[in-house]
Amino acid sequence: MKGSKREIVVPGENLGVVEEYIPGEGIREEDGNLYSVYLGSLFEKEVKLSVRPLKRTILPLRPGEIALGEIRGADRQIYHIHLTALIKPRRAILSPPVSATMSKRPPNVGARPSDIVLVKVSSVKNGTVAVTMGGPPELGVLLSFCPVCGTPLKKGVGYTLVCRSCGKVYLDRKISSMYGWNPFKEGLISYVKREK
Ligand SMILES: [Zn+2]
Repeated sequence: MKGSKREIVVPGENLGVVEEYIPGEGIREEDGNLYSVYLGSLFEKEVKLSVRPLKRTILPLRPGEIALGEIRGADRQIYHIHLTALIKPRRAILSPPVSATMSKRPPNVGARPSDIVLVKVSSVKNGTVAVTMGGPPELGVLLSFCPVCGTPLKKGVGYTLVCRSCGKVYLDRKISSMYGWNPFKEGLISYVKREK
């Protein structure tokens, strides 16, 4: 385990072994290994480990907030998105996810269902949340999977994504300047994917 105190851990993350640590709250033991039960902050006191779940956000979302989401579907004019976490300025997991819509008009072009996106809340009206990928360069598609073989796509030149497995190239998607970045750490994106 790494030493830093305010470390964020994900459910199922291996935190050590029973020979090293005593499991406290939010830790489960399996075959001598210790795993986090929650997405939360890891606390280490001498040899005792515990995980406190991240606090739930106080809804509603506010215009201007940056959120992490997954595109769950699309019709002719809009994308349907599940917002799974707030990134800035508040940082929290949204559980259950908050439904939002995003226009398919520019700059929100080229995204497809299953894409993980970094978006800005543009309006909240009568409980309906609208988001956009327009604005700072970090907004856009954060992770995308090859529709042919399911492999995570790698960023190429400009707004190009490439599948290293089957060689397909995808053009003209609004890609985040932080493509591939995980706002929490390795694990959150796959955690979001697993929720299906
Ligand atoms: Zn592929």
